[in-house]
Amino acid sequence: MKCTVCGHTGFSNKFINKIFDLGDRHVMVQQIPAQACERCGEGVIASDTVEKIRWLVHGGNPSGMMSVEVFSFG
Ligand SMILES: [Zn+2]
Repeated sequence: MKCTVCGHTGFSNKFINKIFDLGDRHVMVQQIPAQACERCGEGVIASDTVEKIRWLVHGGNPSGMMSVEVFSFG
């Protein structure tokens, strides 16, 4: 496995927080089990975990609310 950001090949198991764009809203999912790049910290999430996240954000109950600042390049 290779990091998509920096090309490093060393990864360690980590729990990460990530914001997902669902089109009409953004949600943050916390404590996602992922492989994190040891150099830059970029998290790689397994496809079966992505599937679970999809179920969670569309059918689960949020554990909290937060406001998110949005920045755009375009
Ligand atoms: Zn990296």
